[in-house]
Amino acid sequence: MTIDGGARAADRIEVVAPAKLNLALLVGPVRPDGFHEIASLMLPVSLADRVRVERTPGAGLDVVCDVAPGADNLAAKVVRELEQRLDRTFEVRVTIDKRVPPGGGLGGGSSDAAATLVALERLYDLDLSSRVRYEAAAAVGSDVPFFLWPGAQLAMGRGQVLKAVQLPALHLVVAMPDLGLSTAAVYRWRDEDAEVTLKEFASRARLLSGVVQAAATPRDVAKLVANDLEPSVVARKEKVGELIERLRSAGALAAAMTGSGAACFAIFDGELEALRARETAAPARAWYVTDLQPEGRTKPAARRGRGKPPA
Ligand code: ATP
Repeated sequence: MTIDGGARAADRIEVVAPAKLNLALLVGPVRPDGFHEIASLMLPVSLADRVRVERTPGAGLDVVCDVAPGADNLAAKVVRELEQRLDRTFEVRVTIDKRVPPGGGLGGGSSDAAATLVALERLYDLDLSSRVRYEAAAAVGSDVPFFLWPGAQLAMGRGQVLKAVQLPALHLVVAMPDLGLSTAAVYRWRDEDAEVTLKEFASRARLLSGVVQAAATPRDVAKLVANDLEPSVVARKEKVGELIERLRSAGALAAAMTGSGAACFAIFDGELEALRARETAAPARAWYVTDLQPEGRTKPAARRGRGKPPA
């Protein structure tokens, strides 16, 4: 972040945009709005993009990003959503240094959008109501609001109803198999393979929500690891099943696919075990990660007394 002599407001701000892992992902029936009912324990991790937002008066809005440049980028979409709600324009250049692989279910695009919103808040000292902040994020995607707050959260509804949870420090490996999956296709496979009643789903979701509160050690968290989409993917894409098996054989306390895949993760007892497993079990695209408290999220939330997501 650059502060001009300390007297003027900053003219550029850089914010860390972490990937997320769905440590647990329970999938229920399709809702009237077409999305699936979910209950998910989500964790931001240290594999992260860097999002720089700078004022460019007179130059309009520009998004520089290898993966999705310009107006299609979720960062551009969140700027537009905020502009509509505040009835003003932002002339900024958003530069995204991509480190989170896209198409793996790691939520990189959603995280970039949330980071852009946080950066705009700080750059222009916007005093956004939690409602405007939340609605602008949710309009871009179900996963975006999660990234507005720090730390692990339980996500319900279609992923946008959030509750902060405390988890112990974790040492993990994230690995990306050599294939990409479409989120829509994966949910379709799940619907073909399993019929779930709302009652069944609601009772499992309640159980998850209760047990999460008592998870004090990495081993407790490992017991919660589950992904309802995984069997449908493993049945069709053997590389995913093989990767999960390799992570388990490398000594993981638990291993699973994250989100709609195809990235997978594993929890280990400590850093050493995780680093070793990354070498022995994982493909070229694998990372040792820990849980992350992105600094851009904590400060404004604490200062303005809205450190908690709306439950
Ligand atoms: P999903 O939410 O569909 O599971 P993902 O987590 O697998 O997505 P993302 O990194 O969010 O993966 O990227 C998915 C797609 O979104 C990309 O292929 C790209 O076309 C588009 N996209 C838009 N903005 C971004 C961005 N800032 N970073 C990455 N992808 C983006």
